[in-house]
Amino acid sequence: MDDSSRTPLFTFGVVSDIQYADIDDGCVHSNQRYYRNSLQLLRNALDTWSTSAVKPKFILQLGDIIDAVNKKNETSAQALDTLMSEFSSSPIEVHHVWGNHEFYNFSRTALFSSKLNSSTHCNENNGPQTGDIYAYHFSPVPKFRFVVLDPYDMSLIGREETSVEYSNALTLLKQHNDNEDTNLPPETEGLERRFVRFNGGFSKEQLDWLDSVLTLADERSERVTVASHIPVHPSSTTPLSLAWNYDELLTILHSHGSVVCYMCGHDHNGGYHRDKDSGVHYLILEGMVETPPGSDAFGTVSVYDDKMVLKGNGRIADREMLFP
Ligand code: ZN
Repeated sequence: MDDSSRTPLFTFGVVSDIQYADIDDGCVHSNQRYYRNSLQLLRNALDTWSTSAVKPKFILQLGDIIDAVNKKNETSAQALDTLMSEFSSSPIEVHHVWGNHEFYNFSRTALFSSKLNSSTHCNENNGPQTGDIYAYHFSPVPKFRFVVLDPYDMSLIGREETSVEYSNALTLLKQHNDNEDTNLPPETEGLERRFVRFNGGFSKEQLDWLDSVLTLADERSERVTVASHIPVHPSSTTPLSLAWNYDELLTILHSHGSVVCYMCGHDHNGGYHRDKDSGVHYLILEGMVETPPGSDAFGTVSVYDDKMVLKGNGRIADREMLFP
């Protein structure tokens, strides 16, 4: 069907791994990173959205908004301010996901009281009731729901070394990775490579909460998109980028008919896979920081009653995602 004659129900913008820093380009794991240029690429995205005929309802920022190098240079607050003033120059509401670089720069407590806490857009306190998990959901239009998940809820990153969460995560990581530097994977290939310090996972409490949110969405016949920072489908990414307990999350996503898509970042090369049995789409957005000047890295998703259509810019490909 020709989409040019159909008006979408709504649209939204997506960006990931901006990893801004006011420093010269660098090379990490043999990939070139254009730290300063990320700001220009964000401007390109915001300009496009602000001037488009159909204004996006909201923007999903999929995590790693500023790079860890800011912490070393003591520029974390400044770099975040720069990005936040850019975002606030646009009238479009932004939903921020938290990734590893958020926790390299700020403590979990500081993040909750920062502008990166977009759960405050939601009137009701609708996240997990106990603990300090950054997860919430919102419905931009009737029959559609978005869930933001916290993939570092179970991790070493962002948890105080004296906390129960830290010691549980350390025990789990050490069971799979006995390297002195646990940022190095335990194996040269295979799924065990996900057990590295820079990854994390979802606690039982968060998984139970997600299950209850999705049960309600099933009952209301809603279409649900889940957004987080770390990939969870092995066929969408390399094992090194997978969430520790990706399998537990997949079991929940695939047991609810309401789930249509899981979106994330973290793997800067991007990725995509459609799960055969459930029909759920797994989309990884290409990272802005590894996008050379002159190109772009943002997407606009048009939502229809039967599908979502991603219009990519620069190195992000167009994609049609039919609902299961
Ligand atoms: Zn990341």
